[in-house]
Amino acid sequence: MTATATGLTGGSPVVIVGAGQGGVQVAASLREGGFTGPVTVVDTESGLPYQRPPLSKAFLTGDGSRSLIDLRSESFFDENSISLHTGQRVDGIDRSAGKVALEGGEYLDYAHLVLATGAGPRTLPVPGADQEGVAVLRTLTDATLLRTLLPGQELRVVIVGGGFIGLEVAAVAAKLGHRVTIVETLPRLMARAVSPELATYVADMHRSHGTEILLGNRVVALPGKNGRVEAVELDDGSRIDADLVLVGIGAVPNTDLAVQADLEVGDGIVVDDGLRTSDPAVSAIGDCASFPSHHAGRRTRLESVQNAVDQARHVAHRLLTGSVEPYRSVPWFWTTQFELRVQMVGLPQEEDERVIHGDPSTGRFSVLRFHNGRLNSIESVNRPQDHVGGRKLLATELRPTLDELRQTDFKFDPKRFA
Ligand code: ADP
Repeated sequence: MTATATGLTGGSPVVIVGAGQGGVQVAASLREGGFTGPVTVVDTESGLPYQRPPLSKAFLTGDGSRSLIDLRSESFFDENSISLHTGQRVDGIDRSAGKVALEGGEYLDYAHLVLATGAGPRTLPVPGADQEGVAVLRTLTDATLLRTLLPGQELRVVIVGGGFIGLEVAAVAAKLGHRVTIVETLPRLMARAVSPELATYVADMHRSHGTEILLGNRVVALPGKNGRVEAVELDDGSRIDADLVLVGIGAVPNTDLAVQADLEVGDGIVVDDGLRTSDPAVSAIGDCASFPSHHAGRRTRLESVQNAVDQARHVAHRLLTGSVEPYRSVPWFWTTQFELRVQMVGLPQEEDERVIHGDPSTGRFSVLRFHNGRLNSIESVNRPQDHVGGRKLLATELRPTLDELRQTDFKFDPKRFA
């Protein structure tokens, strides 16, 4: 009952830990590919699996209806004989026996195990961080709580962390009429992911909605009274009064199970370019997996829907066919803040050379980034054609020259470079 050159046989059970976008996609792709063995998905969170991107956007202001964010309908799981164990924790993995232990003493046998355990919010290591009024946003439970806190009278909202989640929530809060302050330790917003030009553009947009942005500041304490947060204290001694503090300072991969099972773990569960862990009967995908990235030229871990879904399809394909191929999908991301839609493709590096297409003052532009003269990523604001063209182009080994890309009328058409 192990993987062979022709893939898993019909009787081989596949167990997937994590019912996020990646975990559910493995199950769906296995069935789409004709796999007839038992497929089980286990997750500690209860209810139907859901999409995370809307949680920091439309879900916060919509009617809170869960059906809008369902990944798949209940009938999808029934009709495809995918056994869904949500609201149940996996306690451990016995790799020599090929079993996972569920809380409550039940065991599930596996021929192949997929770890799609995701990442949890990084917590702020300062006094007062565990008080009421201090929120994080990762799960539906977090988002549901935040929904109840946000509407109503004007609040003083402090967002700690100027990354995607912080900025998306900041935009929602400002639109609801709250007084918003963003505190970011680095000298610019979204420094990990976007260029200084785009960061400046986004910062200006937030400021134009009345939001204050404090860059290069560290939070040292969250003073409060009777277990409720009242303020945010910064390293320069200043203090910002706060009714609500949202901490969005990044995520930590959920690796406990892998560590306990003695699999190799670094910044995430270590996998090879075929997404196999140090035990070939166990794969890891999505936010929890550290993989050798063709596009980054080094080991990396990505937190995105695209990466989770594409890695899921990749693993399902390997299980179906037995063929181990390197994972090479082009990474892409998006964020929406106010009316702004930013799309990013490729993986930038810190000191990239940059060319701007379009004009930021018109609200339509792209930033093309180069490392050692080679195009590695494109950030687009309201220029979807650049994003789509960039995705096609970066999927090939073809690269236009810097001179070509400096032409203002340049179109990302891979056929031009064939
Ligand atoms: P998320 O998914 O939570 O938005 P990101 O990595 O996109 O994660 O953004 C997190 C942001 O939080 C980064 O810009 C990072 O510099 C910032 N950050 C990290 N720690 C702190 C801190 N203690 N105070 C303020 N900002 C922080």
